[in-house]
Amino acid sequence: MLEKIRQDLSPTGATLVAVSKTKPEKAILALYEKGQLDFGENRVQEFTSKVESLPKDIRWHFIGHLQTNKVKYIAPSVYLIHSVDSFKLLREINKQAKKVDRIVNCLLQFKVAAEETKYGFDRSSAKAMLDNPAFSELKNIRILGVMGMATFTYDEVQVRREFRQLKSIFDRLKDNYFIEQEDFREISMGMSNDYSIALEEGSTMVRIGSLLFGSRR
Ligand SMILES: *Cc1c(COP(=O)(O)O)cnc(C)c1O
Repeated sequence: MLEKIRQDLSPTGATLVAVSKTKPEKAILALYEKGQLDFGENRVQEFTSKVESLPKDIRWHFIGHLQTNKVKYIAPSVYLIHSVDSFKLLREINKQAKKVDRIVNCLLQFKVAAEETKYGFDRSSAKAMLDNPAFSELKNIRILGVMGMATFTYDEVQVRREFRQLKSIFDRLKDNYFIEQEDFREISMGMSNDYSIALEEGSTMVRIGSLLFGSRR
């Protein structure tokens, strides 16, 4: 399956984040040995224990909802936090990154799905944060782009519409706030079920779990 996904990604240049949550370390190592270096986790405790015992050149992505009181545990080692969903969280990431003398890469998570429960910014809450003078004082975080999840549905038209919405949010932010920041270029969208549509709609990073590791039940 890794080969098939790599082939699908290759013409787009998108990055594969292998979502290894709930999966044992030996399953991660099996992919690592095939050259996979980006892995995604969504629980802080599992994240830190895997970071500690697995190879040091793995790039660990945090993709789940992150509570402010747990940022300190991942700040020393995380490569990219996909799930920044509030200004409060971003300020805490900045604070903890500063303590360990790092600049932590972040994506702003946007709510584009119809489902009520998904975390994330909408256009207006993101604008309020980015326009706040306190935002530009955060020197220990770097925003590399956006992340979003489509509704869990077989309706491909709806999924495509939601990915398109995320792409348009990215474009707007790029033009209005990040035009001079070359590394603001990531659109993290697409999972096992919908990554092909996501790639067609401009994804630069797909987060794939069950297709690589088998279903989690
Ligand atoms: C679990 C998870 C994924 C991967 O989902 P699959 O359907 O197993 O590919 C991607 N993104 C996030 C945020 C997740 O929590």
